[in-house]
Amino acid sequence: MSYHDLECPYCDAELDICHDDGFGYEEGVKHEMSCGKCGKNFVFETSISFNYEPQKADCLNDGEHDWKAITTHPVECTKMKCTSCDSQRNPTEIEMNEIIEKRNKRIVIGKFPDAYAKKWAALSIVIWCPMLDRRLSGFLKQSPKHGQMQ
Ligand SMILES: [Zn+2]
Ligand SMILES: [Zn+2]
Repeated sequence: MSYHDLECPYCDAELDICHDDGFGYEEGVKHEMSCGKCGKNFVFETSISFNYEPQKADCLNDGEHDWKAITTHPVECTKMKCTSCDSQRNPTEIEMNEIIEKRNKRIVIGKFPDAYAKKWAALSIVIWCPMLDRRLSGFLKQSPKHGQMQ
């Protein structure tokens, strides 16, 4: 059975409202329309209904939030979102490391080109391991090329 917006008040033909330019959405006014079958003009009024879906949210009643990482690009913009109440927060450093580890694993498992996986692995080390980052920049300063340029 197909769904139609309304029936013609004259001939009961099942009709769809043409919503071009937002026609027919406004509430509390009479919209004019003509029947494609019997050709008569008629009016209709629109009423919009809201549906509410209650769900338990134990985290708002002394329970724990159920934090899940939201997938983002780039990975360092990842936020933690509670699946129960939709609260958001930034990940802790430990969580972020886990997220990056998982993301890198997924890239490798997903058989992305090697270069791509390596790029991401390198990126995450640079961004999230300050120790390595420092060592890396130290290495660059000591590189022979840099010395020759001076
Ligand atoms: Zn009609
Ligand atoms: Zn919550």
